[in-house]
Amino acid sequence: MTVRTFVNGVEVADYPELPEEAARGKVLRVTEVGEKVLHNPCRTVTEFGTAELRALIDDMFATMAIAEGVGLAANQVDVDLRLFVFDLTEDGVRHVGHVINPACTIDLEEGNVEGEEGCLSVPGPGAGLFRARRAAVTGVDVEGNAVELSGEGYFARMLQHETDHLEGRLYIDLISKRERKRVISEMLDFRPEVLERRAELTQALSKEPARYPASAPLAK
Ligand code: ZN
Repeated sequence: MTVRTFVNGVEVADYPELPEEAARGKVLRVTEVGEKVLHNPCRTVTEFGTAELRALIDDMFATMAIAEGVGLAANQVDVDLRLFVFDLTEDGVRHVGHVINPACTIDLEEGNVEGEEGCLSVPGPGAGLFRARRAAVTGVDVEGNAVELSGEGYFARMLQHETDHLEGRLYIDLISKRERKRVISEMLDFRPEVLERRAELTQALSKEPARYPASAPLAK
């Protein structure tokens, strides 16, 4: 099946399997549930077009690629800025890009839909969760130019999940206490396997693997 690719909401004719940002970027450690940076709102980005911001986006793309994620927020790499990157393919459409200072609006008239959700900061199996069927995000790109994204399905779910991160909210904050407990306990079992796979995929891209503490913050 031919995949149509949209970069920051704009269709492009050609796009590499591995985004150029990911090819350039370094692999960073993904922060884990229990670390402060994930549980507080991030700061608004005020300076655009800087080398630091470009490098951060590159590194976030590389980190998302080796972690096999479809989205990654800056506080997931220990940076408390309002910014996320994404690379998600669904029904023959690939959505890829980054958004800075995003604002997410959901369409309440379209209703909610339940779907399986997971998070790179909660490494292991996920949980079912209701989200708005349709969502839209407005923000800017690295140069400060307007970005508008909207969609439904898994893409809408990702937009809501990532903007939640920037408010200091994880998906496990939105599920029942019992489900949260189950997810955390499975995470502690699965974590070594997940980190091993990340290290292997990092080496496959000839990059330096990120260093993780021996045990999860919540295990201490
Ligand atoms: Zn997440």
